[in-house]
Amino acid sequence: MEVVAARGSLRAWVPRGLLQLDRWDGQQASGDGLVAVELAWMDGRLLAPRVLSDAEPRPHSLALPRFADPHVHLDKAFTWSEAPNFTGTYDGALAANLQEHRFRTKEGVLERGDRALRLACSHGLRALRSHIDSVGPGAAASWSALLELRSRWSHAIDLQLVALAPLDYWSSAEGLALAQEVGANGGLLGGVLVPPFRAVDVRRQVHVLLDLVEKVGCGIDLHIDEAGIQPAAGLNQLLAVLDQRPCSIPITCSHCSSLGLASRDQQRRIAERLAQHQVAVVALPLTNGWLLGRQGDQTPVLKPLAPIRTLQRAGVTVAVGADNVVDPWFPVGDLDPLSLMASALPLTQLAPWERLGLAPFTTAAAAAMNLSWTGLLHNGAPADLLVLEATSWSEALCRPKRRVLVAGRWWSARSR
Ligand SMILES: [Zn+2]
Repeated sequence: MEVVAARGSLRAWVPRGLLQLDRWDGQQASGDGLVAVELAWMDGRLLAPRVLSDAEPRPHSLALPRFADPHVHLDKAFTWSEAPNFTGTYDGALAANLQEHRFRTKEGVLERGDRALRLACSHGLRALRSHIDSVGPGAAASWSALLELRSRWSHAIDLQLVALAPLDYWSSAEGLALAQEVGANGGLLGGVLVPPFRAVDVRRQVHVLLDLVEKVGCGIDLHIDEAGIQPAAGLNQLLAVLDQRPCSIPITCSHCSSLGLASRDQQRRIAERLAQHQVAVVALPLTNGWLLGRQGDQTPVLKPLAPIRTLQRAGVTVAVGADNVVDPWFPVGDLDPLSLMASALPLTQLAPWERLGLAPFTTAAAAAMNLSWTGLLHNGAPADLLVLEATSWSEALCRPKRRVLVAGRWWSARSR
């Protein structure tokens, strides 16, 4: 890491909703919901933000807390060229993924994962939760590589790892052994709960999984209802089990796409039950928008997507993640949170100048990941900033020049 001062300051616009002042004197935000402030830091921590007076020059930068992405797949990132899915379907993606997994090596995951983390850090991410294909020929190599990368990047990125396995795997002796290993490594258990399935089998498997995480002491993050059929079929089974035996362990439901196809009443009722059980939701509009809702050669106008607003209104923590990056499930991406926000804009209609439009990419993402810092800028918060050459959200989402501050030090390509 290059030698730089451990203290510094800058003047920038920051979102009103991410600013926590010791005292708020009724300063007005701009139409973009931005407030002009001076941010200073020392020894890796922010000092109290100071709102600029109207007499002071307006800043030329926009500062945001470094971002958290609650759902990626670093083990398969950048595998599109060796395992393309030209059909663009879910089944095609799965087949290509399984083929790639057969020949996956630790060296390959290390090289691609390192590239992904370097991009993520330089683009302003501070935390990522990555699912890992954890059953089959490439599983051991993937885990070994990602544990190494987690350690290699720990000074700059908080990397959470989730063991992605078929749901019934957790009922087997091998599943128990894997769960213990994952728990010992501070990971989470994942699974796939997508129709069609037999409800009675799924409920039993969910029971076993809940027992298992309580025993091992790690969180759960499920791929659930990533489908365009049988709206909320998986969520209904999960909630039926949670009604019988509440779980003390944090649960995240990723995707929840088909819930968006349920009636408004059904969406609202399920959202309320998710809130009651404190289940967080991660919406993944890019991969869903690409894979789901295909209708042959017709242009689909109805896309399965988690009903973010309904979930938020019910009190559910809802985050948005990138999901797949240049792999069989989605052919583009470069782990840039600004790019994700811009791409999600037409799919989700989440406006970053509104508190609930910005939260899924910032504070709610941190909450879904149970990070110690939610991303609010306040006295004593980590000096972790993404600073953009922009003075509005419109400019910010056009990928302007940026600088990244990591624990009070400017990040450079040479930083490690
Ligand atoms: Zn995923």
